[in-house]
Amino acid sequence: MARYIFVTGGVVSSLGKGLSSASLAYLLKSRGYKVKIRKLDPYLNVDPGTMNPFQHGEVFVTDDGAETDLDLGHYERFTDINSTALDNITAGKIYSIILNKERAGKYFGNTVQVIPHVTNEIKNFIKNKTLGFDFIICEIGGTVGDIESLPFLEAIRQFSNDIGKKNSLFMHLTLVPYIKSSDEIKTKPTQHSVKELRSLGIQPDIIICRSEVSLPKDQRKKISLFCNVDIDNVIETVDVKTIYEAPISFFREKLDKQVLNYFKIKNKKLANLKPWFKTKNIVLKSKNELNISVVGKYVDLKDAYKSIDEALVHGGIANNVRVNLNKIDSEKIKSSQIKDKLYNSNGILIPGGFGKRGTEGKIQSIKFARENKIPFFGICFGMQLALIEFARNVLKIKNAGSSEFNKKCTPVIGLIEEWYKKGVLKKGDLKVLGGTMRLGKYECNLLENSLIRKIYKTSKISERHRHRYEVNINFREKFEKKGLIFSGISNNNKLAEIIELKTHPWFFGVQFHPEFKSRPLKPHPLFASFIKAAKNKKFND
Ligand code: GLN
Repeated sequence: MARYIFVTGGVVSSLGKGLSSASLAYLLKSRGYKVKIRKLDPYLNVDPGTMNPFQHGEVFVTDDGAETDLDLGHYERFTDINSTALDNITAGKIYSIILNKERAGKYFGNTVQVIPHVTNEIKNFIKNKTLGFDFIICEIGGTVGDIESLPFLEAIRQFSNDIGKKNSLFMHLTLVPYIKSSDEIKTKPTQHSVKELRSLGIQPDIIICRSEVSLPKDQRKKISLFCNVDIDNVIETVDVKTIYEAPISFFREKLDKQVLNYFKIKNKKLANLKPWFKTKNIVLKSKNELNISVVGKYVDLKDAYKSIDEALVHGGIANNVRVNLNKIDSEKIKSSQIKDKLYNSNGILIPGGFGKRGTEGKIQSIKFARENKIPFFGICFGMQLALIEFARNVLKIKNAGSSEFNKKCTPVIGLIEEWYKKGVLKKGDLKVLGGTMRLGKYECNLLENSLIRKIYKTSKISERHRHRYEVNINFREKFEKKGLIFSGISNNNKLAEIIELKTHPWFFGVQFHPEFKSRPLKPHPLFASFIKAAKNKKFND
């Protein structure tokens, strides 16, 4: 039977529960265990799909098409274990399951209540399809003390009671502030947060203390004493310079060893940290560096393009170079500023996006990259806009556009429904998961003699999608005559998945999101190739 590790957070949010869970998962996996991480989010949205990236950061997409919390991205990147739709749930989803059951008469007229109905649904989610795993790490979103968290904390309390303490462990992450003026480390917030947790019936077994400075023995003793936790289970996590140091720092603090001790598991095999040292050294110390400009709409929020930022850094790791990200707001950039803002970029990337705002800034940036032979990478919306730019400026289709933001344009990009109506696609040509979005993994065939095939070193790939609009395949010939070839095509030959410009050193657009599959220890081939091209870019002056 799997052992369950429940991770909660206290005092404040954003302490790095996701990163701590992901690091622990890596350490356990590296010691030979089969690990799964799940995220339980107490907010009422059914999934993060419709949430504003400004508020919530990026939406991470799994192979099976779930739109999930970005923490699942951390999990995948650190463990190289793919998540599924079964690994993220929200209070909204739980309630919608329950309300549907209630309407269908599944509760036989009984009163439907938080306990047991909501808590049972949460428990069902936690234990669903866990056969064959050694450890299930469940991270509870939010902070202890939030009203929304209560049913989740009650559910994990019950769950632990159901399976027994020997099979379940509570890990609590708190803030231990350092007060500069008095040069003191304060344990009181941690004591209060643990008190709150205990009032809900949960006694933490391990406390992870997030702090600016290292915890002296006395403070550890104090936390151990007041919070009723073994001193060896008071683990510090001091701010790291790069997230790639996190597995190393948790290893030094013996987190994995303490977890195994708790479960009375003897295992002499140590986690392999060599790749993390290598990664960390390149990111922090490499003498080479380059600038990549990311032109997007949500640049003000740090996490809005999380997986892209990470994948670019991974590309740097593959090429032993530090990647500086230059985020440019596509809504604010004026045509007259494009040259100034972009000319010292080694590469330009346009990420995914939705809606009209900021599109012209992106199109101008693409034109600049194309004409000045700057390595260019268009992702999803970025690829669609690259086609529009080319159609307008090279094919001279002046009103070329996407029906997403201009209903009267010549639609180079449009809704699948439009292609059905116009006979470009036949019903059933494409199986679309989810509502109207193409979500999750789809296969794509790579053209012979294309650069993309050399990059991937294979003829068939599978990548993750999240979009509603598609390229109008009827324009293929026109584009290809001018050198912009459709070098990646869907199995049914109807959907353009990859474009590349033959007359340019490195100009690619992809309809999918390769960033979701990049890992620090296994950089994605497209990002590695992009950074390689960026590294080789010559500047005229
Ligand atoms: N808005 C575009 C579409 O829906 C692109 C989406 C994206 O970039 N993820 O097709």
